[in-house]
Amino acid sequence: MKTLDRWHNEWFEVRYLNDNYVERYSYESIYNDMEDKERQLFFRQLSQENVSLSCKCKKNRSIDMLVVENAKSNRFHLRTSNGQKSVHYELCNFAGDQPSNYHKAWQEDEKGNVKIRLDDKSFLIADKTKRNTRSNKNIGINTFHRMSNYAFFVKWILDAWNIKVRSSYKKGIAPPTLKEVYNMLFNRSTKMTFHKNKTLDKVFYFSGDIVKKIKAVKYHEKMNTLVFMKIDRLEEIKKGIYKGLYKASLYNERDNKTVQILCEKVLLEQVVGSLRVKSSPYMVGGWVELNENGDPTFVNITLVPISSNGLFVESQNERELYNKLHKEKRYVVKLYKPYIQWKGMLPDGLLIDTKPQTILEVFGMSKGDEDYHIRKEQKINHFSSLQNYGFWKWDAYKGDSLPKIPNQN
Ligand SMILES: [Zn+2]
Repeated sequence: MKTLDRWHNEWFEVRYLNDNYVERYSYESIYNDMEDKERQLFFRQLSQENVSLSCKCKKNRSIDMLVVENAKSNRFHLRTSNGQKSVHYELCNFAGDQPSNYHKAWQEDEKGNVKIRLDDKSFLIADKTKRNTRSNKNIGINTFHRMSNYAFFVKWILDAWNIKVRSSYKKGIAPPTLKEVYNMLFNRSTKMTFHKNKTLDKVFYFSGDIVKKIKAVKYHEKMNTLVFMKIDRLEEIKKGIYKGLYKASLYNERDNKTVQILCEKVLLEQVVGSLRVKSSPYMVGGWVELNENGDPTFVNITLVPISSNGLFVESQNERELYNKLHKEKRYVVKLYKPYIQWKGMLPDGLLIDTKPQTILEVFGMSKGDEDYHIRKEQKINHFSSLQNYGFWKWDAYKGDSLPKIPNQN
């Protein structure tokens, strides 16, 4: 299954051969954050240094990259070495013929309006006679500018969370509960267009009778309905017409009701198999239709692991940290892209109620993962050298218990 991790933005590696020093950058920090002049200077410097450049979008393989100068324009470009173009991970910026920018898949203007491009067209009601072709829809070069369902749900809930936490902190009110985050998901959906200028709230199931909502969307918008809710229970149906299917019981924070949605076993197994965080709570996101008996059924499904209050987590250790911070009414955000002074390194979390703000890192992977631990050292060195940020880390992989968290001030 295709998932887009937040780690995607640490893919470009510069190895300085003289002193064997390595720096990693996100393509986003190079192509979105740098001004053109700055980027040209950066490429020019790289072309003069004794460096080897690589793209690290594939887990077990380095892809050689080059900085080349255009003889006519004297402008510098980054490109893949000959013969390696097809090796890039399909969502890498350098997959395909030219550097594409899948960040175009989530474009936000100054007013907070967002344009989304999804690579899965499950929001459209399928022609039942052509059912089986659905899985072929993802093929095509356009997917490089689009985002997977997983990336979309993660981005949406992080976005809602961060906006809510920052505004609560500013107003001096308590950090958000899961219910408040859920309400914010809805507020944001009114500003998110995803298909032919339709906003997401038109298809988002938020409260009331799910069957009525699905029918309304189906007849008026000719689309499936979007569900994104905390999962309560997931169980296999043992008898009756739905034997062998799964029943997902979802808790609607909005009106404190549980809704039940059917799901095919194979869809669920794919998702569960690719989960990085193996324990609940999760939000479940997906497009839902009514089956021939009028029962809500997932067309596709994604699980997003969260903390007790609805913050996206990437490990059980991270969840432990955030749950503690929620209990102590602390204000923590989790960014989707690094600030420019972080040199493409994305911290796990950022505590915004300390002065200066505190970068949070949870190191949970076993020592066996060499790349991870090289990266870990770089992060520690860089983050602890920053004057305008505090730095807190937890070596959970050593079995250390949670260290003291800096006090709020
Ligand atoms: Zn790549």
